[in-house]
Amino acid sequence: MRRAPIRTVAWALGAAVIAVAGAVLMARADLARQREAFETDARIAHRLLSQRVVQHEAILATLVLLQPGPGDAADRLPSVYPQVLRVLQRERDAAWPDAALAAADARSRQQRRAVLVGDPAGREFAAGRYTVLQAADPMSYALVVDLKALVPRTEWPLPDDGPVRCWLDLDGRAQVLQPGRDGAGGWRFDFAKHLAAESQPFELRASRHVGWAELPWAAMAAWVLAVGGVVAALAAWQGQRSERRRAEELLRLGQIGRLNALGELAAGMAHELNQPLTALLANTRAAQRLLDEDPPDIATARGAMGQAADQARRAAEVVGRLRRTVERPDRGAAAVPVPLLDAARNVLFLLEPECRRRGVEVAWQLPAVPPTVRADPVALEQVVHNLVMNALQAMEQVPVGERRLTLVLGAEGGFGVLRVRDHGPGFGDAVMLRLFEPFFTTREGGLGLGLSLCETLAVGMGGSLTAGRAEPRGAEFRLDLPLAGGAGGAR
Ligand code: ADP
Repeated sequence: MRRAPIRTVAWALGAAVIAVAGAVLMARADLARQREAFETDARIAHRLLSQRVVQHEAILATLVLLQPGPGDAADRLPSVYPQVLRVLQRERDAAWPDAALAAADARSRQQRRAVLVGDPAGREFAAGRYTVLQAADPMSYALVVDLKALVPRTEWPLPDDGPVRCWLDLDGRAQVLQPGRDGAGGWRFDFAKHLAAESQPFELRASRHVGWAELPWAAMAAWVLAVGGVVAALAAWQGQRSERRRAEELLRLGQIGRLNALGELAAGMAHELNQPLTALLANTRAAQRLLDEDPPDIATARGAMGQAADQARRAAEVVGRLRRTVERPDRGAAAVPVPLLDAARNVLFLLEPECRRRGVEVAWQLPAVPPTVRADPVALEQVVHNLVMNALQAMEQVPVGERRLTLVLGAEGGFGVLRVRDHGPGFGDAVMLRLFEPFFTTREGGLGLGLSLCETLAVGMGGSLTAGRAEPRGAEFRLDLPLAGGAGGAR
């Protein structure tokens, strides 16, 4: 189990997801803003153009009503309406000089409204003009309109060199009002709506192409950098915090272990044995002297030897009491339900740098529901810590590629079971018999107290610790502790 790289990958993945999601949202918001601006401009253009074509109907209606003659006010119209190029009129009882105008006159009479003068080849429209005619008696009128001058540039909402393409469509023929810019890839916004006058059935069409280059890359890059920075800072802070916790925990386990195993025992023994041993020495020396006298003072020497025997008994009692204290720690004092997996994971987390340094691969075998046991959490972690440390030390004797540590959890007969299995050299029968003896060690610099203390702690919590051989090689230590839910329950 390599926790550090997994955590780094998780942080990096999290940062990437947040950065990408944020950048996508920014791009989408920018596109929505651009679409909104495009639609607003297109709607303004449509309103202005509609006003103009409706105005042409109103002008024709006024001409028809007032019936001005040639050279009359009608000729002055182009100076008032710049888009009107010319005013045509059919003289009283005369015919239109042109067949298209005559046909439009007949249609206008039939439909009782102004109509567009037909132009099958679309030549007039292609040249940027069209003619709208209103038939009446005695005179009919027609306006020749300049498409480009429909809306004065000062009122036109779109800049000349802007990206929006804009054209009027008449039966599939297009008159471009605004060239705009086109491009491949990216996004396209479209707008299409008929102008508001039935007599001039043009459709206003507009389109806007947004290329990839137009996305707000600078803001998106700033966002990605900001997310990266914040997540890196968080990861570093979290890393420091767990390193500190690991160091504190290791110190605590080490202190408890040493105090339990050796410190208390040695300090207590030194203190309590000092006095009887001194007295014993004094008495035996005195007896020696008395026996060396001529004649020897046997009676006094006997008294001194008696006292020496008393002191030796006292020393034996001190040793016995200390031994009982060590073997029967304050059991049950802190026995609480502890998830066995949590305890094992805590220890492995603490020893993770050790495992990494030694190139030891850690594997877990877990049941569907890992057991919860009744234990003193500190003592339990201390036992697991000792077992794992022993396994790591044993595996120093095998090549790096073969160093494998397996932790197996399970439950059997009312006990939660933790097996710590290594792939080290294991041990022979002679060593196996003595593993749990205090001060038995085969390690240079070893104290030989670890396993005996672990066994004492396991028994103190109502459980047991046993040693066996792993297949195909190595050692396996099995720790049994009562299940928290009583016999048979996994919890
Ligand atoms: P120490 O580690 O100080 O020697 P321990 O009581 O922890 O004391 O271990 C006693 C002895 O048991 C070790 O010196 C070693 O010979 C043997 N031992 C313990 N664990 C293992 C193991 N996983 N594989 C092989 N031998 C082991």
